Amino acid sequence: MNKTIIAWTKVTWNPVHGCSRVSEGCRHCYAEALSLRYGWTKLPWTAQNAEANVREVPAKLREPYSLKEPSRIFVNSMSDLFHPLISPAYRDRVFAVMADLPQHTFQVLTKRPELAAQWHGPWPKNIWLGASIESARHLDRLDHLRQSGAQVRFVSAEPLISAWGAADLTGIDWVIVGGESGPEHRPMPHTWAREIRDMCLAQDVAFFFKQSAAYRTEMGTTLQNTDGTFWTWQQWPDQRAEPVPGESHKFTCESIKAVSLPVQATAPLQATSQPAATPPPAQPSLF
Ligand code: SF4
Repeated sequence: MNKTIIAWTKVTWNPVHGCSRVSEGCRHCYAEALSLRYGWTKLPWTAQNAEANVREVPAKLREPYSLKEPSRIFVNSMSDLFHPLISPAYRDRVFAVMADLPQHTFQVLTKRPELAAQWHGPWPKNIWLGASIESARHLDRLDHLRQSGAQVRFVSAEPLISAWGAADLTGIDWVIVGGESGPEHRPMPHTWAREIRDMCLAQDVAFFFKQSAAYRTEMGTTLQNTDGTFWTWQQWPDQRAEPVPGESHKFTCESIKAVSLPVQATAPLQATSQPAATPPPAQPSLF
């Protein structure tokens, strides 16, 4: 397990390694970049290479037992527990560990909530299920999340690459918003994040602003209000802290009028389960 600077969790636990791209939010997947850089996987994380890249790591299964303090644990920061190549028998073993340690909170985040919705669990209160929703194009993942047996459901809107528009957050406990990080980060005007925050406030959902779009992770961690002030929003499903004034920064992207869906303007990705609707232009596919 590793300590992490990700503000909404404390440590990461990776009993699975490797993945394959699902949608536009995977375009600059940090897990893939890290894995290829350090040689943990050898091939790009396409669907075609998934057999070579996705592996169960049973040697890590018991790691959470070594944590002394009750902790929030991000499950599979370097993979997706609901990747279709993870065997149900192995997923059962991961869930057994999580259910056996109720003092910890396990945050399972997936881009495949349609598969998580079919998972039998167990889903005790300390196993949270989250879906990544990077754009309005994938708001249907909310429905899959609602269909799951998880008692605590959350959304990670990171990297947020388009405005969501109106969304029904019924049955959702927590929304995290973050811009993309890295040298090729795509912009996230703070107005997109404010729209989601306002929906959370109106629908009684906890809201967490993680970061702005910037060249490194955890930069611009305050959200700018329409009056120009900056605020730290760090709520959890079980802990609704009031926002507090925070440091100003220059990563708000408000001058960018990119309110149309960037997902339609860049090279479509061949999803493993849902192929992109638009034909690919003369750019390499991600999948
Ligand atoms: S689903 Fe997550 S881990 Fe898998 S390729 Fe996409 S961003 Fe990376």
